[in-house]
Amino acid sequence: MLKETKTRNIKIFIYGISIILMIIFIFSIFQKEKGRVYTTRFINLVKEEKVFKLEKNDLKSFKEQILIEKGNSKKAKNTKLSNYSLGVIEYLNENYEKSIEFLKISEGYSLESDKELEFDILVKLAMNYTYIGDLRESNKYIKKAEELGRSNGLGNEVSDAYYELVSKRIDLDYNVKDCIELLENSLNLIQDHKRVMKSYLLLATLNRLRGDYNQALVYDQRAIGISIDSKDDEYLGKCLISLSENYYTKRQYRKAINLLQTIIDGDMVKDSEDKLKLYGYLIDCNLKTGNLEKGEEYKEKFLETVNDLNPNARVREVMWLHVLYSDSNLLVGNFEVSDNHLKMAKKLYTKNKNRVHINTKLLLDKIEIKRQYTKDKDYKKAIKKYENIIEEIKNKESGLNLYYDLVWEISTLSYLNKDNEYLYKYSKEIYEIYNEVNITVDTDSVIADLNTYVEKREAYIDKYKIYGLIILLILAIALVFTIYNINVKISKSNKKLERDNITDGLTGAYNKRYLNQILEKNIGKNLVFVMLDIDFFKSYNDNYGHMQGDEALITVSNLLRDVFKDDLVFRYGGEEFSIISERNFDFVIRDLEIFKKRLHDKNIVHEFSSISDRITLSMGISKGCITSFEDGENLIKESDKKLYESKSTGRNKISF
Ligand code: GH3
Ligand code: MG
Ligand code: MG
Repeated sequence: MLKETKTRNIKIFIYGISIILMIIFIFSIFQKEKGRVYTTRFINLVKEEKVFKLEKNDLKSFKEQILIEKGNSKKAKNTKLSNYSLGVIEYLNENYEKSIEFLKISEGYSLESDKELEFDILVKLAMNYTYIGDLRESNKYIKKAEELGRSNGLGNEVSDAYYELVSKRIDLDYNVKDCIELLENSLNLIQDHKRVMKSYLLLATLNRLRGDYNQALVYDQRAIGISIDSKDDEYLGKCLISLSENYYTKRQYRKAINLLQTIIDGDMVKDSEDKLKLYGYLIDCNLKTGNLEKGEEYKEKFLETVNDLNPNARVREVMWLHVLYSDSNLLVGNFEVSDNHLKMAKKLYTKNKNRVHINTKLLLDKIEIKRQYTKDKDYKKAIKKYENIIEEIKNKESGLNLYYDLVWEISTLSYLNKDNEYLYKYSKEIYEIYNEVNITVDTDSVIADLNTYVEKREAYIDKYKIYGLIILLILAIALVFTIYNINVKISKSNKKLERDNITDGLTGAYNKRYLNQILEKNIGKNLVFVMLDIDFFKSYNDNYGHMQGDEALITVSNLLRDVFKDDLVFRYGGEEFSIISERNFDFVIRDLEIFKKRLHDKNIVHEFSSISDRITLSMGISKGCITSFEDGENLIKESDKKLYESKSTGRNKISF
């Protein structure tokens, strides 16, 4: 009996102890988890890449909680994770020095288990050092990250890190050449084609920044090749945007618009950032070619899309929009509106220097110079300042995509102030802008290649399906071929008819019938109308013969169509031509001046002209909003009057 009680007591004791131990064990696990709730949650957000979407307040409360958790436990793992989290938070808060402190502590505790976290610490350290301008330390850490990544199969992650680092360095205005080198080196680490394409496209942009258009095009072309091989429409869209940047940089806005429109029509772009690029360029190109309505249309789409971005990127895009509108309002003389936009842009710029694109400062400078000129009209000072920016661009070997913009401004000022010195100085560049040499030819041919690629791709059908279909196909093919041939012939002759109908047979310019159609079509628009007439052409004909007269007409017409390729050129009558333009009045006048100079250089000898030794033209120009067809006719009369003025005051000149 006594023995039984004793064993029962022992049993109760053992059970009791076990239960207590169990409770302690569960409690300790619970405590341990509780000790790192926020840290763990935050690290998960980092891994899921959601951390960039956190607002400032979220970051603040995470920071507070993690600091508490850090104080609660001094265990190595906890210290490592909480310091890592705090490092990331400070990185996002843009306190880079602080971030470095935390991350270095975290790096000091080596935990073999989580290589990815280890890798991220090194990458973030490299990023931080880039931000504070210590590129040596930054390079040291990115190399460390690369080694770790290489030995743990993180090739893609390494390339992502290089990509991010290079993008930031570009934004922060570091040497583009170094960036290209860094990115090119990382290419051999990449395992999947999406990343390769992405890097190629960034390399294209970087080369454009340096003014190396050929190399840019090589990378564009490679990216296109891969996107086609891998049937990746989204990337094809990105590639086409990159291609259109080649046109944009050379101020060939119409071509850029056409290409960008193709991307929209093909619905090739899904990503918000790409959409913004697309709409952004379309706004810019349309504003620059004077098509304000279209610009507004895309602006609305742009603003809709901006909301998808994270706060930092949003600021950058909105600022850029202000820059654009300041510039274009300045161009049409809305000074107050322009100033307001400039003010907004500058405000955002000073607050967000680290986040904006490298050329923003230069762009702001450019606008400011232009504005100053409207006030003091000191064009020499303005040109000097523009040239300073050009020097700056050349010295740091980046920002060359602004170069043509600056040449444009200088040549405009030079022309408007009848000081041809700079027109001659930059004549090569101006000629490039006008004649689409070098790069354009190449961009065009890339697009042509692309079209054949796409055709090939569309023709591609699964091999096995082909076997099944082949018999049917042979039967169908004869039929299709015949129909196709007939169709091609019909559409060719239709097109020819259409063209013949609206063009002048001798000169290839549009005819008067088409002029009337155009006036009717453009009711409601602001138009510029130019009337041109060859001086003393009767005596040219009488002395050199009708045939040579015809030759001269063709030469004049070709030159006109070349200079005014964005406008419509008509043969109004015998030796009279006219131009309809939707562009800014001043631009048209300037182009007329350029036409005049190029005609002079062509030197079509006319010994029987009373005012020159070669063929010259007199010109009259007028502008106005057309609310009816009669308005159109009045516009013509107006410019005819101006032409008469030119004729009666010495010829070979422009009256307006
Ligand atoms: P002004 O400087 O005042 O314009 O003098 P003009 O001699 O150019 O003007 P006018 O109107 O007296 O002469 C126009 C000449 O243009 C008459 C005609 O010989 C010539 N012409 C008109 N159409 C053609 C054409 O299709 N081919 C050729 N070769 N000459 C043409
Ligand atoms: Mg005449
Ligand atoms: Mg004449």
